[in-house]
Amino acid sequence: MEVAAGHGLAPITGSSGSVGVVGYLLGGGLGPLARSHGASSDRVRGLRVVLADGSVVETTAEHEPDLFWALRGGKGGLGIVTRVDVELVPLRTLYGGSLTVDGADAADVLRAWTRWTTTAPDDVTTSVVILSLPDLPFVPEPLRGRTVLNLRFAYPGDAAEGERLAAPLRAVAPALVDTIGEMPAAAIATIHADPDDPGPSWVAGAELRTIDDAFVDRYLGAYGPGGDSPFLGAEIRHLGGAVARDVPGGSAVGGRTGDYLLAFVGMNPPLVPAMVASFADFTAWSAPWAASETNVNFLPAPWTEEMLARAWSPQTLARLREVRSQYDPDGRFPFGA
Ligand SMILES: Cc1cc2nc3c(=O)[nH]c(=O)nc-3n(C[C@H](O)[C@H](O)[C@H](O)COP(=O)(O)OP(=O)(O)OC[C@H]3O[C@@H](n4cnc5c(N)ncnc54)[C@H](O)[C@@H]3O)c2cc1C
Repeated sequence: MEVAAGHGLAPITGSSGSVGVVGYLLGGGLGPLARSHGASSDRVRGLRVVLADGSVVETTAEHEPDLFWALRGGKGGLGIVTRVDVELVPLRTLYGGSLTVDGADAADVLRAWTRWTTTAPDDVTTSVVILSLPDLPFVPEPLRGRTVLNLRFAYPGDAAEGERLAAPLRAVAPALVDTIGEMPAAAIATIHADPDDPGPSWVAGAELRTIDDAFVDRYLGAYGPGGDSPFLGAEIRHLGGAVARDVPGGSAVGGRTGDYLLAFVGMNPPLVPAMVASFADFTAWSAPWAASETNVNFLPAPWTEEMLARAWSPQTLARLREVRSQYDPDGRFPFGA
């Protein structure tokens, strides 16, 4: 990113600066600039792949186009990717960061943000997460041991316009910490501030068609202050915008139709059974708001057939199966349990 930044260019990344780039891109990749720039795999120009028979193929829109289509969003079962060529976008700075408010103000900010997203322009990407922060030295002093709401904001445009867009969100409650401002595009991972050190994590998610006050009430009850959620965070990301628009010629990216994504992250291995149970509970109660697809990057492995059917439309799933059987007829790279 630093080299690209020297030329005023940036890649379209995920929220974390340290998650594996190939695994992320093969699922599509929905990051902090998702609404303005779409799925990260929309910028993939070519891939080098070792196929099941040991041959190496360079695939692009013109060469082995079915494989190229499938690798942008199809996630697995096709081969081993050893190189990816991605297009960079002209972007030196963005207006971004996060706003942290006390848990007592979470309900007001969440409701205001939900309304705000219904008219937000396509080029601003935001999300909110309730975090229960431990009383430990790595947590910044004003936040230690508190339950807080963190609102993430990324606008790849003029700072004055970004400030105007963020103003209604800033006005809802006093900030404990406000880092939203003009920042180098290369610092985009600081918006989510995901941990950089290696560590275990359990990620799951579900896309939603819409959210409303009734959803917010259920969400706050389950993951808000005073709840007993096993997750470190339950983040609601605003999708739509460029995510909803496929690339010319098409790609296998699933989950383009949901307007929101609820992403759960837990980092305490002994709590995984509780996370699995809590996610199942969420899936049941959120059915009235559920979208028909959830992007595969947010579905926890092992991927069952039922899960794969949630990751793509029936047409995309059928075409993916055809391409997999063409390039890996003996199932050397099994995908799905
Ligand atoms: C902290 C955190 C933040 C995240 N944020 C986002 C986000 O903002 N947006 C988003 O979309 N996702 C996000 N994710 C999910 C992430 O995209 C997936 O977990 C992704 O699979 C991570 O890639 P990996 O290489 O680490 O995983 P791995 O477990 O190593 O790989 C997962 C799968 O990807 C495929 N794969 C990986 N490498 C290759 C390769 N070289 N060749 C062929 N297939 C390969 C395989 O099917 C493999 O089973 C996040 C995950 C974490 C932990």
